[in-house]
Amino acid sequence: MIPVNEPTFGERELELVTDCVRSGWVSSAGRYLDEFERRWAEYCGMKHGVAVSSGTAALDVAVSCIRLQPGDEVILPSFTIVSCAQAITRNGGLPVLVDCDPETWCLDVDQVAARITARTRAIMPVHMYGHPADMDPLREMADRHGLVLIEDAAEAHGAEYKGRRCGGLGDISCFSFYANKIITTGEGGMVLTDDDDWAAHARSYRNLCFRSERRFYHEELGENYRMTNMQAALGVAQLDRVDEIVAHKRTMAAAYSERLASCEALQRPVEREWARSTFWMYGVVLKADCGTAPAQAAELVQRLQARGVQTRPFFLGMHEQPAFLRMGLFEAEHYPITEMLARQGLYLPSGTALTEQQVDEVSAAVLDSVA
Ligand SMILES: *Cc1c(COP(=O)(O)O)cnc(C)c1O
Repeated sequence: MIPVNEPTFGERELELVTDCVRSGWVSSAGRYLDEFERRWAEYCGMKHGVAVSSGTAALDVAVSCIRLQPGDEVILPSFTIVSCAQAITRNGGLPVLVDCDPETWCLDVDQVAARITARTRAIMPVHMYGHPADMDPLREMADRHGLVLIEDAAEAHGAEYKGRRCGGLGDISCFSFYANKIITTGEGGMVLTDDDDWAAHARSYRNLCFRSERRFYHEELGENYRMTNMQAALGVAQLDRVDEIVAHKRTMAAAYSERLASCEALQRPVEREWARSTFWMYGVVLKADCGTAPAQAAELVQRLQARGVQTRPFFLGMHEQPAFLRMGLFEAEHYPITEMLARQGLYLPSGTALTEQQVDEVSAAVLDSVA
């Protein structure tokens, strides 16, 4: 079976994690944590890095920084992971959705203006599958209306927008270092910001809002979202390889696109002229009414599975989630591009260990399966 995505580690990862165990610095203090936070913030061009236990935690911390009041709204794409919308609801806000661009699969910035109200506090763009969202128009709207830009860069380590790194474009940005991301700490995440007060809040919130001067006295409630020094050690070793991993992903994506170019039934990923995508996951979308091809991604997933190729379907829209509908959110809302992508989209094996020969095998299996 060709796996959909799995990380690769070298001697350096083993060496640094071993050093944590040998030295006894295994919990949430230690030099690798400091180094990982400092170097990742620097890589993205932000002042502060606050490491946390997951990308989901990073989003929760980021939204908690802006202290939403009941009824405050945050605009985000319907096509994303549940972590984005639940970071808003858990912090007492209302998620407000926009559909996505049919080619980049990132939020459609032209729909954002119409969703801004007197209650809007923030916009949360998500860089989808390694392709940056169109940030300049969002920055302009945010500045004009006094909104915060919360960037979800969990799929975009090393991606660039107009020559600037993703994760350095928002007022607060969030990363995940889950095992399938461009670089990994096993589980983990980080919040980046230039704002001193938000950084201090994030540090406090991830550590149960303990206070240094009076430890078990709480003015506020936080969470235990701490990252361990062992995870950070893995991250420091991975950080040295981020550009190499991105280069590998880009080479594999170009190879897929070349081999699948003749296939009329499939829409392939794009790269806008202002973007440098990492092609974190190589996604394809089955075009509707395309002759003999399977009508839905689920069927193609099964056909490929039978040929030893592991794939994953795309996200299901936030407006189609029973958990949110039960809360009275998104009632009778429709986002046609999101709905199409959720049914027609899947991603192909994209791991860092993927070889060019495996790209050939997967491409041949795809071409056969849609013929
Ligand atoms: C993976 C991911 C997250 C969540 O990260 P976890 O570390 O799995 O909690 C958030 N947003 C996006 C866009 C992601 O792809």
